[in-house]
Amino acid sequence: MSFFEVGEARAGYGKMEVLRGISLRLEEGEVVTLIGANGAGKTTTLNAICGIVRVASGAVTFDGHDITHRPTKDIVRLGITQVPEGRKLFSELSIAENLRMGAYLRKDDKAIKDDLDYVCELFPRLRERWNQLAGSLSGGEQQMCAIGRGLMARPKLLLLDEPSLGLAPLLVEQIFEIINRLNSDGTTILLVEQNAKKALEVAHRGYVMETGNITMEGDAKALLNDPRVRSAYLGDV
Ligand code: ATP
Repeated sequence: MSFFEVGEARAGYGKMEVLRGISLRLEEGEVVTLIGANGAGKTTTLNAICGIVRVASGAVTFDGHDITHRPTKDIVRLGITQVPEGRKLFSELSIAENLRMGAYLRKDDKAIKDDLDYVCELFPRLRERWNQLAGSLSGGEQQMCAIGRGLMARPKLLLLDEPSLGLAPLLVEQIFEIINRLNSDGTTILLVEQNAKKALEVAHRGYVMETGNITMEGDAKALLNDPRVRSAYLGDV
């Protein structure tokens, strides 16, 4: 059994089925990317994994547990954390308070402090702006804070939804460097990205999603060189 597996999952909103029986897996230590056009169902996939969207049929397993219909907070406790698209920070709270919110299910105060230090080492800018309200941060700083908050749950599997969206090129570079660093430090990562090129460069493997189906999968380098991926997602003609 893989570290993490989605098997034949179907899910949607009301009568509208968005995920049409998708299967994917991650092994411990991998970065795996899920790419696809707007509306393909990538965010829905992450929400189904976290228990935010109900899985109608199929199964999700993680670290030996069936998490298919478990409440989100149990899933977080088991070690999966999502950093949602659009950051969703508490804008009236400071950086420090947002980061501490990420650890709300934990009681290990000493380790929480170590993790705050780790987040500040990754993102020195957050330490500099420690007491500033999240709502007043730049887009890049908000993304750093959102990733930091996700890390404060000490995830074994981190789900990142479009971390580079709307960021200037230099910040995009930084975010992808951080993804690399987190992975070298032992975090397994499922990365949803519009920036297919950068995502496939940082990932070990990838999946391509089209209208609720996984249509291609494989080694990230092979996908990066695949003519179909190149023309549909990398802007090659
Ligand atoms: P994007 O990059 O635009 O976020 P995506 O691949 O993540 O795209 P989803 O956000 O999963 O796609 O959306 C898949 C489909 O589900 C779309 O048709 C979208 O309109 C629909 N959808 C998403 N969220 C909801 C919701 N809360 N209620 C109803 N329909 C939704």
